[in-house]
Amino acid sequence: MALAGVLGLAIGSFLNVVAYRVPAGVSLLRESRCMSCESKVPPSLNIPVLGWVLLRGRCATCGRPISARYPMVEALAGLAFAAVTFWLVVPVAGAPGSSRGVPIAVGTTEAFGVAAIAAAYLYLASISIVLTIIDLDTHRLPNVIVLPSYIVAAALLAAGSALTGDWVALLRGALVMTGLYIFYWVLRLIRPDGMGGGDVKLAGVLGLYLGYAGWGASIVGAFAAFFLGGVFGVALMLVKRADRRSAIPFGPWMILGTWMGLLFGEPLARWYVELFIVT
Ligand SMILES: [Zn+2]
Repeated sequence: MALAGVLGLAIGSFLNVVAYRVPAGVSLLRESRCMSCESKVPPSLNIPVLGWVLLRGRCATCGRPISARYPMVEALAGLAFAAVTFWLVVPVAGAPGSSRGVPIAVGTTEAFGVAAIAAAYLYLASISIVLTIIDLDTHRLPNVIVLPSYIVAAALLAAGSALTGDWVALLRGALVMTGLYIFYWVLRLIRPDGMGGGDVKLAGVLGLYLGYAGWGASIVGAFAAFFLGGVFGVALMLVKRADRRSAIPFGPWMILGTWMGLLFGEPLARWYVELFIVT
């Protein structure tokens, strides 16, 4: 888990690069440079979080400040990776793969299956962070990130199903993926100004992950986005008197809602069912 956290820090560093360069159309393979003076960052200081702390948030060459966003994203990715690993490896209720009560410790085939599922959800954590930043910055969800995610997610989750034998999860994922895509597509048809085409494409990816986790996750995840976005929108109108058209990108709410569904959906659904069946 600590290892996953360190991996997350490193990935977070890369996510910063993706979040900044993809909308700007700059190659991902170019070395890190200062935003102000274009001087290269020495490899010894190109360490997640620590490099920024050692530089006290300033460029070594020109002394101009480096945004605190970079170490924050790195730290967030580190935490997210540790959390996702904990969630998948420790048999918590509702985690995909542990749904049948068979966590990682069992047979090797099963363990590889859980590892594939873990990789799929770590990938989701990565694109969640990148797409949230990009959507907040530019109000766009780039196809170059969203569309390949269908392939990455489907391949990893299918491998997970093949190794754990849990094909029901994959089928459920495909159903929720299709359902959520169509739902957002219809929403966009009704109110084209409220929903972007990127939101529709992202909805399918998130649906695949939610469906794979379970029905409870799917229901909570799908509605949490609208609930969170709605509450925030009303709060913003009250505080800033923003009119209804002031554009708040919806992508971050979809992503946050998905994680709420993944983390709380299954326990919540179980509680709800017991409430009516047991009593
Ligand atoms: Zn500089």
